[in-house]
Amino acid sequence: NTKRAHDYLDEIYTTVVKRNYSEKEFHQAVALFLRSLEPLLVKYPIYMEKGILEQITEPERLITFRVPWVDDNGKTRVNRGLRVQFNSALGPYKGGLRFHPSVDSSIIKFLGFEQTFKNSLTGQPIGGGKGGADFDPKGKSDNEIMRFCQSFMTELAKYIGPDVDIPAGDIGVGAREIGYMFGQYKKIRGAFEAGVLTGKGIGYGGSLARKESTGFGTIYFLQEMLKDRGLSLKGSTITVSGSGNVSIYAMEKATELGAKIVACSDSNGYIYDANGINLDTVKQIKEVEYGRISEYVNIHPEASYSEGCAGIWTIPCDVALPCATQNELDEQSALTLVRNNVKAVAEGANMPSTPEAIDVFLENKVLFGPAKAVNAGGVAVSSLEMSQNSMRLSWTFEEVDAKLHEIMKNIYQSCIDSAEEFELDGNLEAAANIAGFRKVADAMIAQGVV
Ligand code: GLU
Repeated sequence: NTKRAHDYLDEIYTTVVKRNYSEKEFHQAVALFLRSLEPLLVKYPIYMEKGILEQITEPERLITFRVPWVDDNGKTRVNRGLRVQFNSALGPYKGGLRFHPSVDSSIIKFLGFEQTFKNSLTGQPIGGGKGGADFDPKGKSDNEIMRFCQSFMTELAKYIGPDVDIPAGDIGVGAREIGYMFGQYKKIRGAFEAGVLTGKGIGYGGSLARKESTGFGTIYFLQEMLKDRGLSLKGSTITVSGSGNVSIYAMEKATELGAKIVACSDSNGYIYDANGINLDTVKQIKEVEYGRISEYVNIHPEASYSEGCAGIWTIPCDVALPCATQNELDEQSALTLVRNNVKAVAEGANMPSTPEAIDVFLENKVLFGPAKAVNAGGVAVSSLEMSQNSMRLSWTFEEVDAKLHEIMKNIYQSCIDSAEEFELDGNLEAAANIAGFRKVADAMIAQGVV
């Protein structure tokens, strides 16, 4: 069976590469995923017999569309919008929208693929999807953002709905953008369908603790990982890449639990302060002014600012939290972290570590929390937002936070269970892939070949 599983996985990968030629990030996500599944297929060949991997690696639907808009100088601009509806075995498609110049079908497919298994891990009834546009929000006026969001939604509205596909935020898309898109969707439909988007403002159907959920969830998962090794956050030193939604609330929760955050970054560079980063300043710069992290040193001259992103991983720390973007942490950075005695790495971003970096962490027995499990708190609370919208009520912050905490503990436990069942030697990366895959695959078998 081992050879059979191996050959089957090889064949699947070859097809994916051939069919999605030049889509490197998608290949990478699929390759990492497939290599985890071998022990599962050996034990349960039914997944091969039922052709589950042939189906699961091919998105149900990929939609691309033109997004025309007029900038503040009256010039017509065009971007490409995309939405991948990857898998609906467990529920309606669910996943964020990313506005960033790097967005293309490879990025959206890798994210939609990962989302399917992440959503499965949350235990919530949601399938996997993802979307976005190669639009660069950097330097755009508020009116330009609004016109872009409206044009984007004019097309996207044809394909989504509260029981069909529910987008949310991701890089470049926060409460402001969700608000503009919701307004446009409502106008097109002529109905207030609150559950069509998540990450909405609190005043019109948003959930308390949604903003904090990805970052908080990252720390809840990290806490469980550390606990298993008799470690805790108290007194630990942490570096966090990024300074967006995930990063900010991971820093907030970690600080609350007694850790010291010594560095964070944005796409231009990173700030470092051995005495701890002031989070209120980071929030003011990033959430209020939509500014650059370099401005931090104007207010706190005792901190230092360095250009470039990878440098942040040269700072000695007990825990590293890559919370910025894909492939931000490579083999060299991983080796440096190991040399500096890092104890744990937890992925707040999607696929932030390269495959080589992951291998370095696993070989050196660094506690490694994979993105699908670690950052699933965001989409989990999105699902709780949908529940509240359906019930037409809103839970308190404490209620949502308690449910999030419970969900993150459950995710950790299902990873541990899979790691034990398949003797994965503490490899949570493989464990999360197996645990996430099984629920989706079993639902697909139950629903037939459709
Ligand atoms: N973009 C987030 C993620 O990567 C959240 C998606 C959602 O809330 O639907 O999981």
